Formats: sequence, structure tokens, C-alpha cells
Amino acid sequence: MQLKVKQVELVHVRIPLHEPFRISTAEVSVKDAIVLRVETSVGVGWGEASPMAGDFYVAETPESSWEALTTSLIPALQRHGAVTCEQVADALEPMSDQAFARAGLESALWHAAAAARGKPLWALLGGRNRPIASGVAVGITDTIDELVDKVDGYVGEGYRRVKIKIKPGWDVEPVAALRERFADVPLMVDANAAYTLDQADVFEALDRYDLMMFEQPLAGDALDDLAALQQRVTTPICLDESAETLEAVQRIISKGSGRIINIKIQRVGGLQRARQMHDLAASANLPCWLGTMPELGIASAQGLHLATLDNFAFPTDVESSARWFVDDLLEPPIVIDAAGMLHIPDGPATGYRVNPDKIAKYAVKRACV
Ligand code: MG
Repeated sequence: MQLKVKQVELVHVRIPLHEPFRISTAEVSVKDAIVLRVETSVGVGWGEASPMAGDFYVAETPESSWEALTTSLIPALQRHGAVTCEQVADALEPMSDQAFARAGLESALWHAAAAARGKPLWALLGGRNRPIASGVAVGITDTIDELVDKVDGYVGEGYRRVKIKIKPGWDVEPVAALRERFADVPLMVDANAAYTLDQADVFEALDRYDLMMFEQPLAGDALDDLAALQQRVTTPICLDESAETLEAVQRIISKGSGRIINIKIQRVGGLQRARQMHDLAASANLPCWLGTMPELGIASAQGLHLATLDNFAFPTDVESSARWFVDDLLEPPIVIDAAGMLHIPDGPATGYRVNPDKIAKYAVKRACV
């Protein structure tokens, strides 16, 4: 299906988090996102460009996404001839290095195409209708007791695996405490690139705790060191910050830098690139899972559809909307069942409806291009 972009409404929304989220490099207490309502030649689609405020995790910010969308990406696509969803990423990539902005616009076209065809998004993406296992991500806490209490609550809610953030000085001890309390819970750690190969002994120590994976133990570009670390531990290394582009995933495969890929739609610039990354990883027998920034509901719902592809083999970081945010923009809200599974509602596109009243409530800036 060919589409042409007509008019785009952008709204910068800001929704408070229930509590600040702390990782090895930063802390954040609100969720910012740029919501896009894109009118195309076949109907309306919704997208979300979803960087965190400030320099949390990545250099891209809500302001830089806004700038790229309004001055470059949207005008370029309006001038462009009709495109298929598969072609949008190629059209946008030369225009801007702002991957989150490209993802927001590109995903809206997929959404519009699915809605126009009356089909679920997963059908267009080549997925299959299946529930998706959800895992919980827990930030760094002040004390180990607080961490154990939090994990206890999330395990009780049904989450299918627990991921904790680690940093030097907060690694083996919290993992040991969790393993003592939760012997059988699927558990993993995410270092957000906080270590160097000189600290490999930490991961050799963590190797004893039957973890599912070590997520991004070393710097994103340290592919040789990651390969060396993978040789020294049996726990699979999962790459997140390292897996920014298809070329990067190809290098990861060639060097043996890890055995699992965390694919984030925002970071890679949209659904098509994420799908290509999934396929490339599958061709090298590297299982994947769908990571998050985390996004609000519009982008999370699109992520769930992508996560129905076969090589997404581990629980996703998409959690219940209410886990992070005091409110969300979707109806119904995204929510796990008692067994920790996410079920995509029936219906065309994502199966979820965007609530314009909620967008108005949390809007901090609007524009029409
Ligand atoms: Mg990560």
C-alpha cells in the first residue's frame, strides 16, 4: 500500500512517573514524548517519538526530536512521492540522525496502513497473533531490603522475569540477595555500559547466580572487549546500547560480542529497521527481545505487535501502563494478566484507541506541519 503524508499534528506531552527511575548513569521523574497524528492519503495514523528529557540514556531529547520532525523529517516526507511503509525508513534516514524522531513518524505510517486495510499491525509486520510475556525492570534502590520488597511485589503481580539495574558497587550483593529470596524467578541484570573489561571479575562472580543474561555490561562500542568477556562467562551477554544499527548488529555477529539482542524501535529508527534487525539476528541464531525506553502507550502498543515475530524469544520490557506512568493516552490501558502476559486487543491497527482528552490534559506544546 502506497501512502502520502498530508498534515501532521505534533503534541509534546509530559506525564509524571509514580517514582523516579534510577540507572547507572541518570535519574528521571517524568515521561516526555512527542505524539504525532499523521493524516495520510489512506487515513490517519498515530506515532510517538519518545526520548526521555535531559540526557537520560541517549543524547536525543524531546526538543531535538521536535526540531528534527518539524524542520526536516515531516516537510521532507510531504514533498516525497507516495511511499510504502517498508520504504519510509530509507527515505528518512538520510534526513536526520534523530532516530527517535524517525521512529515516531515511520510508525505512524505503519499504523495508518494497518488501519486503512482493517488489519492488525502484526499482520503487516509478519508476526502472528500470540500473547507476549512481560518482564519488569527495577531501578537502583537505596537499600537491598527495598529492592527485595519491590521485586516481591512485581513477582506477585505475575511478571515473567525480573531485570535489575546494576552499577559498580551495586551488583553481586543485590543479585545474591534476590537469588536467596527468589530461587526460581528468571532474573537478569542490566549495567547500561557501566563497567570495563578490567572489572570482568564482577561478571565472573555473577555467573554463579543462574541469570538469563548480562545486558550491556561494557561500553556500546567495546565490541572486542565484549567478545572477550563473553569468552570468560557462561551467562549470555545481551547487547542493547551496542545494537544501534544493522551494521552494528552485523559487527556483533562477526565478533561474537554477545548472544542476545535487545531491539528498541525508538533507538533503531522505527518498525522496519527493528524488523530487519530481528531478521538479521535470527539468521545468526541470536534470539532477541523487545526493549523499551520506556515509551507511552502508543509506541508500546506498536512494540507489542512487532514482538509477535518469532525470534522475539524472551519477555519484553513492555509492562503495564500503570507500572511507570500516573496515566496513559490509550484505551484500554496496557495491562498484564495474572500470568504476566500481554494480550493484543482484537481490531484493526494496534487494537487500542488513542484518547484525545488525555493528550490535551498532558500537552505542553503543540504544532501543525
Ligand atoms: Mg538496557
